[in-house]
Amino acid sequence: MRTELVSEPGDADRPNEDFASVGLPASGQGGSVVVLDGVTPPKNGTGCLHSVPWFTARLGGALTELTVSLPDTPLADALSLAIARTAEAHASTCDLSHPRTPQATVVVARWSPETVEYLVLSDSALLVESPDGVVTPVLDDRLSLLPRSALATDALVDSTVRNREGGFFTAAADPGVSARAVTGTVPRREVRALTVLTDGAARWVERFGEGDWADCFQLVRKEGPQALVDRVRTLERADTARTFLGRSKTHDDATVVFVEF
Ligand SMILES: [Zn+2]
Repeated sequence: MRTELVSEPGDADRPNEDFASVGLPASGQGGSVVVLDGVTPPKNGTGCLHSVPWFTARLGGALTELTVSLPDTPLADALSLAIARTAEAHASTCDLSHPRTPQATVVVARWSPETVEYLVLSDSALLVESPDGVVTPVLDDRLSLLPRSALATDALVDSTVRNREGGFFTAAADPGVSARAVTGTVPRREVRALTVLTDGAARWVERFGEGDWADCFQLVRKEGPQALVDRVRTLERADTARTFLGRSKTHDDATVVFVEF
Protein backbone atom coordinates (compact mmCIF):
# COMPACT_ATOMS: atom_id res chain seq x y z
CA MET A 1 0.00 0.00 0.00
CA ARG A 2 1.00 3.63 -0.46
CA THR A 3 0.41 6.52 1.92
CA GLU A 4 1.33 10.17 1.37
CA LEU A 5 0.73 13.02 3.79
CA VAL A 6 1.21 16.78 3.51
CA SER A 7 0.27 19.39 6.13
CA GLU A 8 1.19 23.07 5.76
CA PRO A 9 0.36 26.08 7.93
CA GLY A 10 -1.56 28.89 6.26
CA ASP A 11 0.84 31.41 7.75
CA ALA A 12 4.50 30.60 8.35
CA ASP A 13 4.45 32.74 11.52
CA ARG A 14 1.60 30.83 13.15
CA PRO A 15 1.56 27.19 14.27
CA ASN A 16 -0.28 24.70 12.08
CA GLU A 17 -3.60 23.87 13.79
CA ASP A 18 -4.24 20.81 11.61
CA PHE A 19 -3.19 17.32 12.79
CA ALA A 20 -2.69 14.26 10.60
CA SER A 21 -1.49 10.74 11.24
CA VAL A 22 -1.51 7.31 9.65
CA GLY A 23 -1.43 4.32 12.03
CA LEU A 24 -0.13 1.06 10.65
CA PRO A 25 -0.09 -1.50 13.49
CA ALA A 26 2.50 -4.26 13.47
CA SER A 27 -0.12 -6.89 12.66
CA GLY A 28 0.03 -5.60 9.09
CA GLN A 29 -3.67 -6.35 8.72
CA GLY A 30 -5.09 -2.86 8.73
CA GLY A 31 -4.60 0.68 9.88
CA SER A 32 -6.19 4.07 10.31
CA VAL A 33 -5.89 7.66 9.17
CA VAL A 34 -6.80 10.55 11.47
CA VAL A 35 -7.10 14.19 10.35
CA LEU A 36 -8.17 17.08 12.60
CA ASP A 37 -8.57 20.78 11.81
CA GLY A 38 -8.35 22.84 14.98
CA VAL A 39 -10.75 25.77 15.19
CA THR A 40 -8.84 29.05 15.46
CA PRO A 41 -9.69 30.63 18.85
CA PRO A 42 -10.96 34.21 19.27
CA LYS A 43 -8.63 36.81 20.76
CA ASN A 44 -10.88 37.29 23.80
CA GLY A 45 -10.17 33.87 25.21
CA THR A 46 -11.27 30.28 25.35
CA GLY A 47 -11.18 29.51 29.08
CA CYS A 48 -8.18 27.27 28.29
CA LEU A 49 -4.50 27.82 29.10
CA HIS A 50 -3.42 25.66 26.17
CA SER A 51 -2.87 26.24 22.48
CA VAL A 52 -4.89 24.69 19.66
CA PRO A 53 -1.87 22.54 18.63
CA TRP A 54 -1.72 21.25 22.24
CA PHE A 55 -5.37 20.20 21.91
CA THR A 56 -5.16 18.66 18.44
CA ALA A 57 -1.97 16.75 19.32
CA ARG A 58 -3.69 15.17 22.32
CA LEU A 59 -7.01 14.44 20.64
CA GLY A 60 -5.38 13.25 17.41
CA GLY A 61 -2.76 11.23 19.26
CA ALA A 62 -5.43 9.54 21.40
CA LEU A 63 -7.59 8.80 18.35
CA THR A 64 -4.66 7.32 16.44
CA GLU A 65 -3.79 5.05 19.35
CA LEU A 66 -7.38 4.00 20.16
CA THR A 67 -8.41 3.28 16.57
CA VAL A 68 -5.59 0.76 16.15
CA SER A 69 -5.34 -0.59 19.72
CA LEU A 70 -9.12 -1.19 19.93
CA PRO A 71 -9.91 -2.49 16.43
CA ASP A 72 -13.34 -3.82 17.48
CA THR A 73 -14.47 -0.56 19.11
CA PRO A 74 -16.66 1.50 16.75
CA LEU A 75 -15.05 4.75 15.59
CA ALA A 76 -17.72 6.90 17.29
CA ASP A 77 -16.88 5.19 20.61
CA ALA A 78 -13.16 5.66 19.98
CA LEU A 79 -13.82 9.37 19.39
CA SER A 80 -15.78 9.60 22.66
CA LEU A 81 -12.91 7.96 24.53
CA ALA A 82 -10.35 10.25 22.90
CA ILE A 83 -12.38 13.38 23.72
CA ALA A 84 -12.78 12.23 27.34
CA ARG A 85 -9.04 11.47 27.65
CA THR A 86 -8.17 14.89 26.23
CA ALA A 87 -10.67 16.71 28.45
CA GLU A 88 -9.25 14.93 31.50
CA ALA A 89 -5.78 16.26 30.63
CA HIS A 90 -6.88 19.85 31.31
CA ALA A 91 -10.13 19.68 33.29
CA SER A 92 -8.35 20.78 36.48
CA THR A 93 -6.73 23.85 34.94
CA CYS A 94 -9.22 25.07 32.32
CA ASP A 95 -12.93 25.94 31.98
CA LEU A 96 -14.10 23.24 29.58
CA SER A 97 -17.68 24.58 29.61
CA HIS A 98 -16.52 27.73 27.76
CA PRO A 99 -18.22 27.81 24.31
CA ARG A 100 -14.84 28.40 22.65
CA THR A 101 -12.97 25.68 24.54
CA PRO A 102 -10.47 24.17 22.04
CA GLN A 103 -12.23 22.17 19.34
CA ALA A 104 -11.56 20.51 16.02
CA THR A 105 -13.15 18.95 12.96
CA VAL A 106 -12.50 15.19 12.71
CA VAL A 107 -12.06 12.64 9.91
CA VAL A 108 -11.13 9.05 10.75
CA ALA A 109 -10.97 6.07 8.40
CA ARG A 110 -9.94 2.60 9.58
CA TRP A 111 -9.39 -0.43 7.40
CA SER A 112 -9.12 -4.18 7.99
CA PRO A 113 -8.94 -7.00 5.43
CA GLU A 114 -12.76 -6.99 5.40
CA THR A 115 -13.96 -3.42 5.85
CA VAL A 116 -13.28 0.30 5.67
CA GLU A 117 -15.00 2.27 8.46
CA TYR A 118 -15.25 6.05 8.45
CA LEU A 119 -16.28 8.96 10.67
CA VAL A 120 -16.63 12.60 9.59
CA LEU A 121 -17.51 15.44 11.99
CA SER A 122 -17.76 19.01 10.66
CA ASP A 123 -16.21 20.36 7.49
CA SER A 124 -13.15 18.30 6.56
CA ALA A 125 -13.71 15.88 3.66
CA LEU A 126 -13.18 12.16 3.08
CA LEU A 127 -13.09 10.95 -0.54
CA VAL A 128 -13.51 7.23 -1.21
CA GLU A 129 -12.43 5.78 -4.57
CA SER A 130 -13.86 2.47 -5.80
CA PRO A 131 -11.83 -0.05 -7.85
CA ASP A 132 -13.47 1.26 -11.04
CA GLY A 133 -12.47 4.85 -10.24
CA VAL A 134 -15.77 6.26 -8.93
CA VAL A 135 -15.10 8.87 -6.22
CA THR A 136 -17.66 9.30 -3.42
CA PRO A 137 -17.29 12.28 -1.08
CA VAL A 138 -18.25 11.67 2.56
CA LEU A 139 -19.15 15.05 4.04
CA ASP A 140 -20.83 16.33 7.18
CA ASP A 141 -22.74 19.07 5.40
CA ARG A 142 -24.50 20.65 8.38
CA LEU A 143 -22.28 23.71 8.09
CA SER A 144 -23.10 24.29 4.42
CA LEU A 145 -26.82 23.87 5.14
CA LEU A 146 -26.85 26.74 7.64
CA PRO A 147 -28.10 30.08 6.34
CA ARG A 148 -25.20 32.34 5.41
CA SER A 149 -26.45 34.99 7.83
CA ALA A 150 -25.86 32.56 10.70
CA LEU A 151 -22.18 32.44 9.79
CA ALA A 152 -21.67 36.18 9.37
CA THR A 153 -19.62 36.66 12.51
CA ASP A 154 -17.78 34.43 14.94
CA ALA A 155 -19.74 35.90 17.85
CA LEU A 156 -23.03 34.97 16.22
CA VAL A 157 -21.74 31.48 15.46
CA ASP A 158 -20.87 31.06 19.15
CA SER A 159 -24.22 32.16 20.45
CA THR A 160 -26.42 30.43 17.90
CA VAL A 161 -25.04 27.44 16.07
CA ARG A 162 -21.74 26.13 17.44
CA ASN A 163 -22.30 22.77 19.13
CA ARG A 164 -26.01 23.54 19.49
CA GLU A 165 -29.05 21.58 18.30
CA GLY A 166 -29.81 22.65 14.71
CA GLY A 167 -26.27 23.99 14.31
CA PHE A 168 -22.97 22.27 13.62
CA PHE A 169 -20.79 20.15 15.84
CA THR A 170 -17.05 19.87 16.44
CA ALA A 171 -15.01 17.71 18.80
CA ALA A 172 -14.45 19.83 21.92
CA ALA A 173 -14.81 18.58 25.51
CA ASP A 174 -18.15 16.68 25.30
CA PRO A 175 -17.69 12.97 24.45
CA GLY A 176 -21.38 12.81 23.46
CA VAL A 177 -20.71 14.80 20.28
CA SER A 178 -19.49 11.62 18.54
CA ALA A 179 -23.16 10.63 18.10
CA ARG A 180 -23.43 13.63 15.74
CA ALA A 181 -20.75 12.40 13.35
CA VAL A 182 -21.42 10.95 9.90
CA THR A 183 -20.31 7.30 10.13
CA GLY A 184 -20.42 4.21 7.93
CA THR A 185 -18.74 1.00 6.84
CA VAL A 186 -18.03 -0.28 3.33
CA PRO A 187 -16.50 -3.60 2.23
CA ARG A 188 -12.74 -3.25 1.73
CA ARG A 189 -12.99 -4.84 -1.74
CA GLU A 190 -15.09 -1.83 -2.82
CA VAL A 191 -12.35 0.67 -1.92
CA ARG A 192 -9.15 1.24 -3.88
CA ALA A 193 -7.95 4.45 -2.27
CA LEU A 194 -8.88 7.26 0.15
CA THR A 195 -8.09 10.96 0.28
CA VAL A 196 -8.70 13.14 3.35
CA LEU A 197 -8.61 16.94 3.09
CA THR A 198 -9.02 19.76 5.58
CA ASP A 199 -11.00 22.73 4.28
CA GLY A 200 -7.80 24.67 3.61
CA ALA A 201 -6.99 22.13 0.86
CA ALA A 202 -10.61 21.45 -0.16
CA ARG A 203 -10.73 25.10 -1.27
CA TRP A 204 -9.56 23.85 -4.69
CA VAL A 205 -13.09 22.41 -5.09
CA GLU A 206 -15.24 24.33 -2.64
CA ARG A 207 -13.96 27.91 -3.14
CA PHE A 208 -12.15 28.06 -6.43
CA GLY A 209 -14.25 25.53 -8.35
CA GLU A 210 -11.21 24.21 -10.22
CA GLY A 211 -12.93 20.84 -10.51
CA ASP A 212 -15.20 18.44 -8.66
CA TRP A 213 -14.24 15.92 -5.97
CA ALA A 214 -13.35 13.29 -8.60
CA ASP A 215 -11.04 15.78 -10.37
CA CYS A 216 -9.46 16.63 -7.03
CA PHE A 217 -8.90 12.93 -6.30
CA GLN A 218 -7.26 12.37 -9.67
CA LEU A 219 -4.93 15.33 -9.11
CA VAL A 220 -3.84 13.90 -5.75
CA ARG A 221 -3.44 10.41 -7.19
CA LYS A 222 -1.36 11.54 -10.17
CA GLU A 223 0.67 14.45 -8.79
CA GLY A 224 0.53 13.88 -5.02
CA PRO A 225 -0.85 15.82 -2.02
CA GLN A 226 1.83 18.54 -2.25
CA ALA A 227 0.71 19.44 -5.77
CA LEU A 228 -2.84 20.07 -4.57
CA VAL A 229 -1.67 22.33 -1.72
CA ASP A 230 0.69 24.19 -4.09
CA ARG A 231 -2.16 24.82 -6.53
CA VAL A 232 -4.40 26.13 -3.76
CA ARG A 233 -1.66 28.53 -2.63
CA THR A 234 -1.22 29.80 -6.20
CA LEU A 235 -4.98 30.38 -6.56
CA GLU A 236 -5.09 32.19 -3.19
CA ARG A 237 -2.24 34.53 -4.14
CA ALA A 238 -3.86 35.28 -7.49
CA ASP A 239 -7.26 36.18 -5.97
CA THR A 240 -6.28 39.75 -5.07
CA ALA A 241 -9.83 40.99 -5.80
CA ARG A 242 -11.10 38.33 -3.34
CA THR A 243 -13.58 37.07 -5.91
CA PHE A 244 -13.39 33.57 -4.46
CA LEU A 245 -12.00 34.17 -0.98
CA GLY A 246 -14.43 36.89 0.09
CA ARG A 247 -13.71 37.70 3.72
CA SER A 248 -11.91 34.41 4.45
CA LYS A 249 -8.25 34.48 5.41
CA THR A 250 -6.00 34.33 2.35
CA HIS A 251 -4.32 31.09 3.37
CA ASP A 252 -5.63 28.41 5.75
CA ASP A 253 -3.80 25.43 7.21
CA ALA A 254 -4.02 22.74 4.53
CA THR A 255 -3.69 18.98 5.02
CA VAL A 256 -4.01 16.19 2.44
CA VAL A 257 -3.58 12.47 3.14
CA PHE A 258 -3.68 9.88 0.37
CA VAL A 259 -3.98 6.16 1.16
CA GLU A 260 -3.95 3.55 -1.61
CA PHE A 261 -4.54 -0.08 -0.65
ZN1 LIG B 1 -6.63 23.77 28.56
